[in-house]
Amino acid sequence: MQIFPTDWRTAMVLVAHPDDVEYGMAAAVDRWTGEGRTVSYLLATSGEAGIEGMAPKVAGPLREQEQRRSADRVGVADVAFLGFPDSRLRTTDQLRTAIAAAVADRRPELVLVGYFGAEWAPDVPNQSDHMEFGRAAVQALDSTEYRLFEQAVQPDHLVDVEGHTDAAIRSLAEHHEYLSVLDPQTPVWQQAEKQVLMSCPERAELDGHRGVGFRLLTPGRPAGGEVLGQVGRD
Ligand SMILES: [Zn+2]
Repeated sequence: MQIFPTDWRTAMVLVAHPDDVEYGMAAAVDRWTGEGRTVSYLLATSGEAGIEGMAPKVAGPLREQEQRRSADRVGVADVAFLGFPDSRLRTTDQLRTAIAAAVADRRPELVLVGYFGAEWAPDVPNQSDHMEFGRAAVQALDSTEYRLFEQAVQPDHLVDVEGHTDAAIRSLAEHHEYLSVLDPQTPVWQQAEKQVLMSCPERAELDGHRGVGFRLLTPGRPAGGEVLGQVGRD
């Protein structure tokens, strides 16, 4: 297990839906932006199919708004939506091209993609959109160019997020309408707290601090064009 690299200034987070970043990764984002790094979000869809009983044309703009507020809570100002259809994502040329163009536009030193493995845990399958999107993102990006990490169930890199879970909870709680329809019985704050603490468990490797785990997919190269050596410790 390695400590997540710190030799970078700009990163881009790529996910399928509004709220995908907020299940864990946002705590790391809060740490990074607090250190003066710039992080931007790219979302394939506006999550318009995600609120039961609400028409997509109402839900889409609402969820974009919730996502922007959520990003703001952890210091992210640049939030872009590609407008692909929620719950019907496919690994197509069109999606790959759109991802590649958005990333090339910003030229981040680091790219992070949401978890796209088949299962979160035994018999807890991942969503098709997450899997299709993650595959498209990996295929869209030149592996010699971009240093790419996936948020991981079985990580090889950890970010110490002690002191950043409150910001992550506030960030997830901004998906207020979404969460209150998802589980009307449980207050939104309580749902957010439970999810964030679950996705940022205490880690023995971090002396019991809470951590977010990532897996290195491709090492890429830094902005200067030099191929990276070993990914160092803090
Ligand atoms: Zn999602």
